[in-house]
Amino acid sequence: MKTPRTELIMGDITTLEVEAIVNAANRSLLGGGGVDGAIHRAAGPALLEECKGLDGCETGQSKITRGYQLKAKYIIHTVGPVWHGGSQNEDKLLASCYRSSLELAREKKIKTIAFPGISTGVYGFPRGLAAVIAVNEAQRFLRDNKFPEKVIFISFDEDNFETYRKLLKE
Ligand code: ADP
Repeated sequence: MKTPRTELIMGDITTLEVEAIVNAANRSLLGGGGVDGAIHRAAGPALLEECKGLDGCETGQSKITRGYQLKAKYIIHTVGPVWHGGSQNEDKLLASCYRSSLELAREKKIKTIAFPGISTGVYGFPRGLAAVIAVNEAQRFLRDNKFPEKVIFISFDEDNFETYRKLLKE
């Protein structure tokens, strides 16, 4: 049987043993709250030092760093859009976050990459729509590319887990 190339798990992304985790960063790339803060705390201060040299990142784009004290070798920092009601290209920008992260993973021949729900915390993106975009972009990319071999969606709470579970079953 073919191994599935997507997986859904519940938990804390900073603890995962995968090759790369994705950070829902802000444009400064200098740390913040939510998952960003958790990743910086877990990776240690050397992460901030590397981030200082990256000159920030545009919304919808991604940059890669080492993982430092994390089990993950790499962190891919992507800047999700702030939700303004849906009329400011938020869906396209969110799709671009997933695509640009996956393109970096392909470049580095990363086998496994884990995504949190980009923009679904403080940035206010509706979770159902965000999950549809995440799953669509990942499935399309996997279909067309050998790397990454596997995409993991990590959910921080039960509600979100259920949303992803339904989409991945379809
Ligand atoms: P954004 O500013 O892009 O909205 P947040 O960090 O506020 O980013 O939230 C993004 C998502 O990450 C939310 O769904 C939140 O529940 C989730 N999250 C927060 N901490 C963690 C963590 N340690 N591991 C996995 N997901 C997390």
